[in-house]
Amino acid sequence: MIAVERAREIVLQAASPRPFETAGLDEAVGRILQETVRADRDLPEWDKALMDGFAVRADTVGGASAVLAVESTIAAGADPAALAPLRGGAARIMTGAPMPPGADAVVPVEETDPGDAAAPGARITLLTVPRPADHVAPRGAEVRAGQTLLEPGTFLGAAEIGVLAACGRTRVAVGTRPGVAVLSTGDEIVAPDSMPGPGRLRNSNGPTLRALAARTGARARDLGIAPDEERGLERAIAPGLEEDVLVLSGGVSMGVYDLVGRVLRRLGVEILFESVAIKPGKPFTFGRRGGTLVFGCPGNPLSSYVIFEVFVRPALRRLAGHPRPERAAIAARLEEPLRLRPGRTGYHPARAAFGPDGLTVRVVRSSGSADFMAPARGNALVITGAGETGLPAGARVPVLLLDDAGER
Ligand code: AMP
Ligand code: MG
Repeated sequence: MIAVERAREIVLQAASPRPFETAGLDEAVGRILQETVRADRDLPEWDKALMDGFAVRADTVGGASAVLAVESTIAAGADPAALAPLRGGAARIMTGAPMPPGADAVVPVEETDPGDAAAPGARITLLTVPRPADHVAPRGAEVRAGQTLLEPGTFLGAAEIGVLAACGRTRVAVGTRPGVAVLSTGDEIVAPDSMPGPGRLRNSNGPTLRALAARTGARARDLGIAPDEERGLERAIAPGLEEDVLVLSGGVSMGVYDLVGRVLRRLGVEILFESVAIKPGKPFTFGRRGGTLVFGCPGNPLSSYVIFEVFVRPALRRLAGHPRPERAAIAARLEEPLRLRPGRTGYHPARAAFGPDGLTVRVVRSSGSADFMAPARGNALVITGAGETGLPAGARVPVLLLDDAGER
């Protein structure tokens, strides 16, 4: 039995980033940028009005209630080089439009009495006294041409997609989405859409593991359900060894029908470990064949869920080019005491919430590793050390927030 940290090292060592590819903006979101992105121009490229109002030269405006002649109207999209210089009055200007030469401030329309500003010879009254630079973004205020905006290794969220679009980078190099095959094993397991006969159980792990893989940005593929019989297992496993990752559930414990390890070996998979000091999930088996990583998760639903979070997710992130594949644990305060049996690193389904005193967490009810409801009762996992015998209420514990923790 090896420690969780050692097991994770072995997994991450075996997971080398796949070659990157180029993707359009709609396909790039959620992936890891693999190149440096620089600004192709100053933004804004001209001194830009930030409000609808009147462009003025602040130091020529007297006190409050200054009355100014309206000299022109400037729309967004006007050519900055074609603008007439201000002649001591005001230019009616729209948000995003270039400032005319000689103007250095915008008085928002709400701070004026515009009268009929469109009429010939119109005059407006300012209700406030402008200061230079009010409501103006000078050229290059946002970015300078050539400036590095995004570094390789950046996670591309919606905001970063906007940055790429703003500098015309509609195709960029990103990490690939790893392909993940998911196979459930067990003679007792039936498809979720069928009625379980006596002694049978619906396949909840397969859809859960595929959902977890998809939420990690991988392409999940369903290999269905394999029997606890060597030939049948072999046939079902073989296509999974063509993917980047094969995730199996069930058949890795000590029972006489737990045949996954033996069949994997026969198919040429090098088994790197078969038992980890983790609770739940001790019989977790990991191996590789060529470039394919093989995760044999125990069949108990809570176990396979935890094994995915602790081992499969970091591996998928590394394959996809993530520079920090492990999700960072954050500190939270235990709401209730926790009794522990020492010996293995513990991952306890829990509910975490941000309150006035920061993050607090309470371990949710669970009847054990077979309890498929346990992860659905919470939004987090509390991590406890292998040597720990118990923790009092108020203790600070590391917590892994699960997918969409804020929503659940
Ligand atoms: P195993 O790891 O094969 O010994 O299975 C441990 C327990 O998990 C057994 O009670 C199985 O019935 C259950 N189990 C195995 N595979 C699944 C699955 N795909 N969905 C739900 N439960 C499962
Ligand atoms: Mg089984």
